[in-house]
Amino acid sequence: MNTIVVNGTRVREFLPMRECIDAMERAFRALTRGRAVVPLRPVVRIPGDAGGALAAMPAYLDDPRSLGVKAISVFAGNEGTVHDSHQGAVLFFDPDHGALVAIMDAGAVTAVRTAAASAVATRLLARPGAEDLAMLGAGVQAHSHLEAMRAVRPVRRVRVWSRTAARAAAFARRYDASDLTVTAVATPREAVEQADLVCTVTSAREPVLMGDWLTPGAHLNVVGASVATAREVDTAAVLRSACFVDRRESALREAGDLVIPIREGALHESHIRAELGEILEGASDGRRTPEEITLFKSVGLAVEDLAAADIVYRRARDDRSVPRIDLC
Ligand code: NDP
Repeated sequence: MNTIVVNGTRVREFLPMRECIDAMERAFRALTRGRAVVPLRPVVRIPGDAGGALAAMPAYLDDPRSLGVKAISVFAGNEGTVHDSHQGAVLFFDPDHGALVAIMDAGAVTAVRTAAASAVATRLLARPGAEDLAMLGAGVQAHSHLEAMRAVRPVRRVRVWSRTAARAAAFARRYDASDLTVTAVATPREAVEQADLVCTVTSAREPVLMGDWLTPGAHLNVVGASVATAREVDTAAVLRSACFVDRRESALREAGDLVIPIREGALHESHIRAELGEILEGASDGRRTPEEITLFKSVGLAVEDLAAADIVYRRARDDRSVPRIDLC
């Protein structure tokens, strides 16, 4: 039995954003219907100042029927080196016999599926005419989030802030020849005030976004922090918003943006209005009024990787130029 090996470049070729957004929607629905098996992820944290972690994310999904595990390292300190901050592989298995049918670059899968999940939230929760986007962070996820936001809302203006001003400027330059106006700004506040859409995609451990900067009717995708001890948005931002998550169980363990205010006694877990799948399945409201601020807290789920990997696998399987290896 040969195993297909799909590198990052081919993953991006085989995984168009719009198709991935629809796949994320199906995955969230399957999760809500109880048609997915997704244990909480174990994470190995490497002791020492440099940090770094390795997470294992296994899952089974009924629709599309798929089985796999993502092994991914997260080294936030890799900025400025030749290494990405997220590296690893998705191992994709045949759910009938357990054969390992594909190995694919996890960094590329993560880049696309995370932004696609935020796009599902944005499609469900943001006001239809949202055109003014604030991007906090200018790394891999910032680029994929801009593509994803444009797929679901008529984005025209983008203000980007990053910790390193040169990185925000470089981000803006990438879109010089596009029909977008992308401006690098000096503070996160300048980016966020008056924005209809806000994406926080930084590796910050302390809040970079304050709730009193938010405009009524805004929608936020809060993506960067996926551990209980780090957060990108302050308690006021969460309290001012109707909160939505990819999965309650994961968010209440892994989302510092929610866990820290809960621990401080400022927030109760009932503040989470719904999982995205519950809105999609008609079991919960999304946005209730045009003035409401909505906040999607993403921690990232293995079913997202699996649903994205399924798209990649189907394309790669039919493409004879994709390498195969015999592991036996
Ligand atoms: P990159 O390394 O490509 O970019 C990181 C960004 O975070 C840069 O803009 C960097 O700023 C900024 N940053 C780093 N440290 C700090 C800090 N202490 N304070 C403020 N900003 C900081 O990472 P990615 O784009 O791949 O990922 C972004 C975040 O999203 C990460 O935290 C990652 O773990 C998380 N993530 C979440 C997922 C989910 O499913 N929810 C999935 C994948 C990633 P600069 O370079 O300008 O200094």
